[in-house]
Amino acid sequence: NHLAHAISRASDGRHAATFLTDMRDGRTITYGDFWSNAERMAAALVARGLAPGDRVAVQAPKEPAMLELYVGTVLAGGVFLPLNTAYTPDEVAYFLGDATPRVFVCDPANLDALASVAADADVAHVMTLGEGEAGTLVPARDAQEPGFRAVPRAALDLAAILYTSGTTGRSKGAMLTHRALASNSETLRDYWRFTDKDVLIHALPIFHTHGLFVATNVTLMAGGAAIFLPGFDADAIIRAMPRATALMGVPTFYTRLLQDDRLADAARNMRLFVSGSAPLLAETHERWRAVTGHAILERYGMTETNMNTSNPYDGERRAGTVGVPLPGVDVKVCDPETGAELPRGEIGVLEVRGDNVFAGYWQMPEKTAEELRSDGWFITGDLAVIDADGYVTIVGRGKDLIITGGFNVYPKEVEGVIDALPGVLESAVIGVPHPDFGEAVVAVVVARAGAAIDERVILDGVSGRLAKFKQPKRVVMAEALPRNTMGKVQKNIMRETYADLLQ
Ligand code: ATP
Ligand code: MG
Repeated sequence: NHLAHAISRASDGRHAATFLTDMRDGRTITYGDFWSNAERMAAALVARGLAPGDRVAVQAPKEPAMLELYVGTVLAGGVFLPLNTAYTPDEVAYFLGDATPRVFVCDPANLDALASVAADADVAHVMTLGEGEAGTLVPARDAQEPGFRAVPRAALDLAAILYTSGTTGRSKGAMLTHRALASNSETLRDYWRFTDKDVLIHALPIFHTHGLFVATNVTLMAGGAAIFLPGFDADAIIRAMPRATALMGVPTFYTRLLQDDRLADAARNMRLFVSGSAPLLAETHERWRAVTGHAILERYGMTETNMNTSNPYDGERRAGTVGVPLPGVDVKVCDPETGAELPRGEIGVLEVRGDNVFAGYWQMPEKTAEELRSDGWFITGDLAVIDADGYVTIVGRGKDLIITGGFNVYPKEVEGVIDALPGVLESAVIGVPHPDFGEAVVAVVVARAGAAIDERVILDGVSGRLAKFKQPKRVVMAEALPRNTMGKVQKNIMRETYADLLQ
């Protein structure tokens, strides 16, 4: 159950096999190099007084050494705690104060701003890791000998604390155990048929569950290789495809790649395209299939649980759904008020249970008690419906549900109708305060380049296609939707922006 053992098994004795190829300079890192570097990282941490259970926080550019630090932390019995590179020093101050790490690794470019922040949080050691692996971390690693033996940990000890994306409010630290991480990655490897022949295009950030635990752990557990990109770059991904077998991405990866006319050729020998972290439009799924012949495999998960459901590898990958529960994961749809399980086909709050579920929110016992039932069911906060075949469709977040004049409006339904209108690129539907209705439906719409559409056109377009109470009271045209680094539309920001629209 030790995560380090689980992810090292596939590459045992395969020292010369490639783990990473850095797309920027073509440098390759073999499994032998990777593990000896990770062991040296562990030794460097222990030399700085890291004791089992201590946190190692890192806010650094996406570099191979950050993955070595992750595995090194786990080997040393520590708790890995990566932070979004977009966080400002004020935000980092909150996370360091909250997590009280023993070691903090930051970009040398931010050291001036962050050294005092770390000092205020009583961090004992600040190290640096910058682009091109500049900074003090790599020399500290290289000063150590490899051969570190994993510090024993129990299945339910923490391996990581990962902060949620903060889409619905302040980020929460999800406490993730060795068992949760090891079991989920193993399940995903088998479910998606990853082997040591696979080459994954890794273009996701590694401070988030998708890039760190799904993409990286699955590759390690399969003993496969990854083509390592510092971030999303359509051109680099297209160029990497002929040498790769799989891509994991957020939906915006797929919509942007579809704009490249080299896609069909490039994708010819790929085995698998996985999407998650935000809803993939059925339209994107269909266009992708038309262009590449591949059905994108959509899955659903969250920081707190890793992955819960997935479309099947062999069976039908249904556009607009997130597939069926993964082996070992139970799901049910419940009444948001009473918590009672609802019959199939009804919309309610999705709850999940399994070894993959987290151990609670770091230093938030009340929040943990609200969302994690004592019998192991976690209340995801997502609204979902399960069909007769067991396929789950995410209808939206509970917090985004609009209640207008006593009626429930699911934004996704309204967005689907608007997105299908000519000239619409995308839309987001939110509820804003309204003096009579409590909340009113408002649509924010982005037009396709050159399309002459306005509020009137959208309102006329939806009338007759949606019940009156679901139709937007106002339509605002925008240049773009506010998205965070994971491609998630930030509806909480939109609700603030348009709070006074109908007051
Ligand atoms: P916070 O919890 O801080 O508000 P967040 O929920 O966005 O932020 P994450 O844990 O990164 O933080 O995201 C998990 C959420 O992403 C899920 O609860 C769900 O709403 C959404 N999500 C993930 N995959 C999918 C998917 N395939 N389809 C629809 N939504 C998805
Ligand atoms: Mg969440």
